[in-house]
Amino acid sequence: MSKNTPKAIRGTQDIFGADAEAFAFVVETFERVRKLYRFRRAEMPVFEKTEVFSRAIGETTDVVSKEMYSFEDRGGDSLTLRPEFTAGIARAYLTNGWQQHAPLKLATHGPLFRYERPQKGRYRQFHQIDAEIIGAAEPQADVELLAMADQLLKELGIEGVTLHLNTLGDADSREQWRAALVEYFGKVRGELSEDSQERLKKNPLRILDSKDRRDQQFLADAPKIDDFLTDEAKGFFETVTSGLDAAGVTWKRAESLVRGLDYYRHTAFEFIPDEGTAAADALGAQSTVLGGGRYDGLMESLGGAPTPAVGWAAGIERLAMLVGEKAEPRLEAIVLVEDDRGLTAAIELLGQLRAGGVVAEIMASGSPKKRYDKAVKQQPRAILRVGASGYDTFSGDLSPGLKEVLTRRL
Ligand code: ATP
Ligand code: MG
Repeated sequence: MSKNTPKAIRGTQDIFGADAEAFAFVVETFERVRKLYRFRRAEMPVFEKTEVFSRAIGETTDVVSKEMYSFEDRGGDSLTLRPEFTAGIARAYLTNGWQQHAPLKLATHGPLFRYERPQKGRYRQFHQIDAEIIGAAEPQADVELLAMADQLLKELGIEGVTLHLNTLGDADSREQWRAALVEYFGKVRGELSEDSQERLKKNPLRILDSKDRRDQQFLADAPKIDDFLTDEAKGFFETVTSGLDAAGVTWKRAESLVRGLDYYRHTAFEFIPDEGTAAADALGAQSTVLGGGRYDGLMESLGGAPTPAVGWAAGIERLAMLVGEKAEPRLEAIVLVEDDRGLTAAIELLGQLRAGGVVAEIMASGSPKKRYDKAVKQQPRAILRVGASGYDTFSGDLSPGLKEVLTRRL
């Protein structure tokens, strides 16, 4: 590489080979599973007006206050590269009148951008798969959404990852819990991290999420949401958990799990590798693979009518690390052009093979001896030899698909 060649941007990745196959495997499996649950596909812009995120996610969150890529475009508008999907989906729901489809099950995937400190499993451009159910207030929607996440992880072959589940209660429960947390942490304010002293003013729930040791010593004895749940909120959570049990989804109660974003109510969850498993080793500190919850308050922050909704997002790169390397598809046949007079016949044969679903390549450059050596080196299941007068013979072993195409030609 010349000194003159520009480098890639810090925190971005060029994904290739087995890693790229693993990435594609995650997306393909997600596409298959979301169809089983009848989630409809949507594509949204990669950028939005900055206010879409600042209003929907909340000015006080880390994402909005520290991590957004915002810029002024040539027309003077403040735009932001999306740091998450939900806010843009909510904007699209309102601007397109998708209320007519409610309850709407939506799925999407693509790149997101956050200005973070890059490390293993944490990038500045990363990718998520995302699923949302919008316009559904009933706990059955939470169950459906979580069952899909669980089935996805199973179909990806990922083991040792458990659903950690909490409830944040309804607005009333959350408000009382918040007040109790402010009182509790207020007494030890001076001993908290600087960040948490700030959180105490703006969003005390997030202190429970702190990774700082100065804060963590106080977490075990902090007030618990269960002491503040209204009967209604308690009933909602019980319906979710019994639905999960019926659906065969294993879960674990995580009393201090809160989500980073302001608009969450009721169900909040993360799928996290169990300690000591290969999955935990593979991910290191960046352990959460999938997270989400119910965000009943979000649509209002964008000027919409109150709209109950629940959703999750999962990092494709983190999931890809857990599915391990995936081999590129096995080469089934090489059409070996032994005599250039047979080139037309070879191209025709190649087209028929691929149309018949056979993974095939053509070898038609270099000397005849070199062509043969190069073909053997690629280790296809079969080499189909094409001479001056067309397809001649084969060596190797014919897969059923290959056999079928060749039989049809006769
Ligand atoms: P974390 O606690 O790891 O910062 P988060 O709470 O910010 O995660 P969400 O906003 O809930 O994450 O995003 C859902 C998922 O997207 C995460 O569980 C993770 O798998 C993935 N993710 C989030 N940020 C990044 C990143 N910077 N690089 C790679 N993956 C990410
Ligand atoms: Mg984060």
